[in-house]
Amino acid sequence: MTSKILLIYTGGTIGMNQNPLTGALEPFDFEHLLSRVPELAQFQTEIATYQFNPPIDSSDMSPKLWTELAHIIADHYNEYDGFVILHGTDTMAYTASALSFMLEGLTKPVILTGSQLPIGQLRTDGKENLITSIEIAAARRADGTAMVPEVGIYFNGHLMRGNRTTKQSADEFNAFESFNYPHLADAGVEITYHDEFIRRPSNTSLQTSVQPKDAYYQRYTRTLTPQFRLDNNVIIFSLFPGIREDLIRHIIATPNLRAIVMRTYGSGNAPQSPWLINALREGYRRGKIIINISQCLQGCVQMGRYDTGYQLQEAGVISGYDGTVEAAVTKLMYLQGKYDDPEQVRKYMRQNLCGEITV
Ligand code: ASP
Repeated sequence: MTSKILLIYTGGTIGMNQNPLTGALEPFDFEHLLSRVPELAQFQTEIATYQFNPPIDSSDMSPKLWTELAHIIADHYNEYDGFVILHGTDTMAYTASALSFMLEGLTKPVILTGSQLPIGQLRTDGKENLITSIEIAAARRADGTAMVPEVGIYFNGHLMRGNRTTKQSADEFNAFESFNYPHLADAGVEITYHDEFIRRPSNTSLQTSVQPKDAYYQRYTRTLTPQFRLDNNVIIFSLFPGIREDLIRHIIATPNLRAIVMRTYGSGNAPQSPWLINALREGYRRGKIIINISQCLQGCVQMGRYDTGYQLQEAGVISGYDGTVEAAVTKLMYLQGKYDDPEQVRKYMRQNLCGEITV
């Protein structure tokens, strides 16, 4: 049976053209992009397209546009077997993470890809990324179910879980890596799927315990129960030697701020300065949710390992385990969109909802 794929173009380098006057890269029309890939006609797969108007540089991505993307997927969910999203690389890991939480109960592939060089350039990486992403989105198992029923990023020969991925290079073709989780597939002469690492829908049962308060729940099939509401009252800050008390206290006292992703050292450590611990404890008392994510890309936060981390735990800081900063910040937006009570948000931050952390 022929697979049907919806190809969604949001913008990014893959579809850009060089402005002859300024030399800067600018987005251009989707039809133009497709005309650069005549190979698409050889696919057995039916490919329909949808484009953002105007296409954007992904530096302009926002929660509002994530909601738009989730709507596009939800509204066309029953018509297609899979979705490929062309996206700029700069914020692709944020979008993939956000969608992984928003598309609760997903049973079809949503594959994000892009490129480091525009598709019109001779040495472009865009063609391979696009063609293989479509192949992955269309792939099915012998029983007819999707080979990869989750949100992934395909780039430079590797398929990674979206909410485990981080942009690691601004100029190499190998732009993304999933530092704390194995690749879901590797593409060489053949595409090798690592089935043991791919999340099957039966493993998503934790999500059903998160009750949507959104009326959209009624509109879609039981399997897909998208959550469109995001609350972005969240900030990320990094610790560094010399960080100032007045600035941290200022952040924590910000009235509408609900959550902080704090980037700590090594296995989740912070300076032992009493003012910092007191400020964090004060934040906790005021209902702020503080998540500990390491500045290291690889490894896991273990707050009990050193005294410097243990104190954070005592102050009410929650471990971000081995998750990425992109997943932590988007998971907070998603949970805050669902729950007003910080305790509920804290509870689900400690749980693995869709493969984003190892607990
Ligand atoms: N600035 C571009 C974007 O993220 C970079 C890229 O696509 O690789 O849209």
